This record gives sequence, structure tokens and C-alpha cells, in this order.
Amino acid sequence: MSSPQGQMKYEQQPLFIGGQRHKTTNTFQTIDPACNTPLADICQADKASIHAAVEAGKNAFPSWSATPPMERSRILLRAVKLLRERNDELATIETHDTGKPFTETSTVDVVTGADVLEYYANLIASGGLNGETTQLRPDAWMYTTKAPLGVCAGIGAWNYPIQIALWKSAPCLAAGNCMVYKPSEFTPLHALKLAEIYMKAGVPPGVFNVVQGAGDVGALLTSHPGIAKVSFTGQVSTGAKVASSAASGMKYVTMELGGKSPCIILPDANVEDAVDGAMMANFFSTGQVCTNGTRVFVPESILPAFEKRLLEKMVHVRPGDVMDPSTNFGPLVSEVHSQKVQKYIAHGIEIDKAKLLYGGLGKPTLPPGVSPNGFWVRPTIFTNCTDTMLIAREEIFGPVMCILPYPAHHPSYLSSLIRRANDTSMGLAAGVFTRDIDLAHKVVAQLQAGITWVNTWGESPAEMPVGGWKMSGLGVENGRRGLEGWVRNKSTLVEMGGTVGTVFAKL
Ligand code: NAD
Repeated sequence: MSSPQGQMKYEQQPLFIGGQRHKTTNTFQTIDPACNTPLADICQADKASIHAAVEAGKNAFPSWSATPPMERSRILLRAVKLLRERNDELATIETHDTGKPFTETSTVDVVTGADVLEYYANLIASGGLNGETTQLRPDAWMYTTKAPLGVCAGIGAWNYPIQIALWKSAPCLAAGNCMVYKPSEFTPLHALKLAEIYMKAGVPPGVFNVVQGAGDVGALLTSHPGIAKVSFTGQVSTGAKVASSAASGMKYVTMELGGKSPCIILPDANVEDAVDGAMMANFFSTGQVCTNGTRVFVPESILPAFEKRLLEKMVHVRPGDVMDPSTNFGPLVSEVHSQKVQKYIAHGIEIDKAKLLYGGLGKPTLPPGVSPNGFWVRPTIFTNCTDTMLIAREEIFGPVMCILPYPAHHPSYLSSLIRRANDTSMGLAAGVFTRDIDLAHKVVAQLQAGITWVNTWGESPAEMPVGGWKMSGLGVENGRRGLEGWVRNKSTLVEMGGTVGTVFAKL
């Protein structure tokens, strides 16, 4: 698709290397998912520009890593202020690039990214990078120090572009590292803005660099010998490739990957809350959330009440003009992704033969004036699903809920339910809805997932470490533990008695 440059919403996006905008000859386009028109030309990185970005990071590292944490903190807090001042401008860019409604991007995406930057800026100013000291004997003690890793790669997915960029760069820069960041090729527009905000806040040139492009650019970055760590967010299959490439260079990795998370409604749950939770867990961001609870386990005893209330509430899922304050459901990010989701819906109807409760194939009814060319899919609910159905096993990453009814009259129902909930190769998130708080904790303790919720779904504040179990990832982002992924440890034993022991002493 081509469009004269002048008609595009945004200027051409150069790379950002060593504090400078950096143009390349090859470009690609980013598309507005709400109307399928190009938004901007994006400069594509090549081997030379990736190398230049890593070198810029290497040059900046000695000084940035030696900058006292208090001073780094002050600089990063200035960036937080700029992000918050420019919230709506940045949210508008995210809405154009992702198709997510402005009601979401203006209240979640930039906000939660800035929160994490604020959290780490405050953490490093209050001893977050301190080590431990242990007195071993009166004349011997041991201490540990935390050292930054060097130049790190951040590779992002398209569902929360600026949030992902901040969740990676905040602890990375706070710990004294430099970053070369590559956003998803589907949502590249936030990256230059963020780089310029960092610069304006006082982050020195070369500390945060941006390269653009698809998987080939990501692969070159991951395998570059100057990269000390790769922090990756994306699909399990891509994560496996990235982790194996990083392993050959013994690089540190953080892997934030996909999921097929169970949302467990227990028989005593408040149906109203359970329905709200299940809707949050499936239709927020048009279902493009890694932690979605797409397998909704509902006891047969409350299934009719649950489905009835769910159907009543589906009228509140409102597709429309993505900038309209009443719209809370947007198109999917790209044509290829909408085709993938439609294929899963077709599979659910034709092959899995699940009962279609709501939605289905095709586009939703759109209000007058909204372009029908957007990458829309209908919010869809299947019920009477079984564990072996493809739609209940694979990550769809779209607005497709699978209800899996279960019998709860036998006393052993809970162990069978937990076994089913854990019967997946992934383990990103899980949640339980019940009024019995003891039972909630007993269930949570047995769920194989890195992120769990009780009587809620989806909130992921800066203080909360998040990361998957099993194939859903390695390591965590956010919280105190999130900082540990960006430093290496050094242990030092000090002997003040003037001897290294008597093993080789003269007899
Ligand atoms: P993807 O794996 O297709 O792409 C992610 C990124 O990897 C992109 O920037 C892409 O260009 C890059 N890439 C592709 N091949 C590469 C390679 N060989 N080497 C290096 N980089 C490469 O994922 P996506 O479709 O953009 O994102 C959706 C996925 O992300 C879903 O599975 C979702 O669950 C997951 N996700 C996980 C989290 C989390 O925190 N666990 C958060 C958001 C999204």
C-alpha cells in the first residue's frame, strides 16, 4: 500500500542512535488498523546501523553507569514528568498505531509505563541497588555489589508498545545500563518520541537508542556480540528462537511470552463479579493482552446465570470510532492478525464444534462514519468447550472467550479442576473468583502461573513482579525483583586477620 508522504499522519520515523536521528534508505510503513491506511514511513535498520547503535551504547556506558544513582534518578523522574505532561499526545499516537481506543491508551498505556519509570527512579534513589553485608567472623566479612550489565537489547510486541518500551528501559537505565530498543514493526511510532523525551530529561546520548524493523532486525540485534542481555516480549515460538540465539553468546535474557490462562469461577462466586472479571480477561484491548483468562471455568450449577448475565453485559462492549470517548473496543492491530483470529473463530465453529454463544465470524456492526476497512473482528464467546479443542488450547490473542463448564457436586471436583487449569504448556497468569478466601489461597497455591489474581483480573501495577512459568517466559519485569534482572552480582570476602589460612603453613 502506498500513499503520498504528505497525506500521512506522521513524519518519516528515523532511527535514533547516539542522541541523533539517523535516516536509512530502506523504509517500511506502519498502518492505521482502524482504517487500513498508512500512517508513516519508518526507516529500517540494517547491520551497520544496528552496530552503530550498539557502539553508541558502549560509548555511553562508562559514564552513565558511573553516574550516582541519585543523579540517574533525578534524570529519570524528569522523563516521568514529561511523559505525564504529554500523556494525551502519546496516547493518540498509540491509538493510531495499535487501533486501541483512546479511552484505554489515555488511561492505561502511558500511565502504567510512566509509573514503572517512577518506581525504578525512586527505588535506585532509596538503596535499591545496594548489596548485602555479612560479618563472617570478627576479622572477616563478606559484601555483595550489583553491577550493571552493559548494553542491553529490548525487543517489544505490538499490544502495549510504549508501556513495553518503558517496562524494559526503566529498570535497564535505572540500573546503569544502556539500551538498544526495537519496537514491533507493527507499532513503531512511540519509540522516537520516547527517545526524545529521555534526551530532553537529560539522559545522555547513546544511553537509549532505537532501531526499527521486523524479525530479521531483531535477530541481528540479539546475536550482536556487544549485547549483554536481551529483554524480549512476544510469542512463545519467537521467544524460543531469541533465547537460543542469546544462549550461544551466554547473554542474560528476560522472556515475557504468551499464555492460555485459566480464569476459575468457583461455585460460590458472586456471578456479577465473575462476569465482569471474565469480560475484562477477554475483551479489554480487543483481547490482545498476554495475561488474558481465555479459558473460563464455570461450574454447571451457575452456568445458566453466568451466561445470561454475560450476554446482557456484552451490549456494553462498544466498537466504534477509536477516538470517541464512548468506544471501548477497537480493531485488531493488523490485517494478518485479524485473519489469524478469524481462522480460530471459524475453527471453533466448524471443527471444534463449540457452541457459539455470542459473536462469530465477520465484522461487528459499526456506528455510522466508522471506516469498515479497519481490522475488526466480533467479540466472540464459545461455550461448552472442552480441554482438547484447539480454541481452548492455543493462544488466539483476540477477543475470543472459551467457557469450560465443570461439575462441582463431587467432593473431588477441585483437584480435577486444578489439574485441568494447569494442563497447558504455558503458565503466564491465572485467577480465581470465590467468596471463600481460604479456598482462594488454596487454589492459587496450586496454580502453575507466575501472575495470579483473586476476585479481579488484569491489574499489573509497578510494584508487582510479573513473568510467566513454563513456556510463558523466564524472569520477571517490575517490582523489586524486576531490577535484579538488569544487574550482575559480585561477592567480595574480606579477611582482616592478615592470613589466608594455614593449609600451606610450615609444619
Ligand atoms: P512476535 O513474537 O511476533 O514479535 C515480537 C517481537 O519480536 C517483534 O518486535 C518482532 O519484530 C520480533 N522478532 C520476530 N522474530 C524475531 C527473531 N527471530 N529475533 C528477534 N526478534 C524477533 O510477537 P507479537 O505478535 O508482536 O506479540 C504478541 C505476543 O506477545 C503474544 O504471544 C503475547 O502473549 C505476547 N506478549 C507477552 C507479554 C508478557 O508480558 N508476557 C506482553 C505482551 C505480549
